[in-house]
Amino acid sequence: MTTETSQKTIKALLSHATAKIGRFEASILLGHVLQKPREYLIAHDDEIVNDLAITTFNMLVDTRLEGMPVPYLTGRQEFFGRYFTVTSDVLIPRPDTEVLIEQALLVTPPRAHVLEMGTGSGCIAVTLKLQNPGLTVTATDRSPDALAVAQANAKDLAADITFAQGSWYEAVPEEQTFDVICSNPPYIHRNDHHLKGLVYEPQEALTDFEDGLSCLREIVRGAPKHLKLGGWLLVEHGYDQGQAVRQLFTDAGFAAVRTVKDYGDNDRLTMGRIPA
Ligand code: GLN
Repeated sequence: MTTETSQKTIKALLSHATAKIGRFEASILLGHVLQKPREYLIAHDDEIVNDLAITTFNMLVDTRLEGMPVPYLTGRQEFFGRYFTVTSDVLIPRPDTEVLIEQALLVTPPRAHVLEMGTGSGCIAVTLKLQNPGLTVTATDRSPDALAVAQANAKDLAADITFAQGSWYEAVPEEQTFDVICSNPPYIHRNDHHLKGLVYEPQEALTDFEDGLSCLREIVRGAPKHLKLGGWLLVEHGYDQGQAVRQLFTDAGFAAVRTVKDYGDNDRLTMGRIPA
């Protein structure tokens, strides 16, 4: 007889944690602790796990149960097929933001100069550069801590990007123009109840502490001055902001203004073009 109990196999640990946080997150966390891909856990589910790993895993599961998002526990999040380092200084990349990538790639000429403002983890700027290596990409953020994360991601993923610190257009020279400008700014209304469920993420990356439209207004109004003729602006926004943002675009002189839905069928981004 052995003193090992079934509690200590991968299978037992996973089934215990699945009851608390679900199988998907349980396997991400156990894979992280064991430094193995999730497929390994399935193929080796009768393997005995050492005590230190068990303690670490149980601690992570409990912290997740308290509400900490999994990417902050593992320090990474997948976006557009690549892993990005995330810390509590940056928003966790969302699948919905992949829609912005798809649309930006559609309207970006091969050797274009792209500006991304409020880059956070850098996921948008880095992905655009890697999907289209001929681009010249500038990425900005007001937060030096966020910029440090973005710079680390650009380095790790070998994306050559110019970074600049500052609030929206203040980060770039006044006379500089781009072919494409994009941003996923803070757009949640200060009173939106969703904010209460997002306490682990930097609040200034989620909300403008106003009506949800103040950053979008600044970005849209300032864009014509920084866009070449024929250039595009794309901004992510809330599910209920499509009409208001299209109006901002039209008022600022944009043509071909359209709103695109995310994978959940919600309005998620608006784009428009400065007439050539
Ligand atoms: N889409 C995010 C959310 O609703 C918000 C991102 C943002 O404010 N830019 O959780």
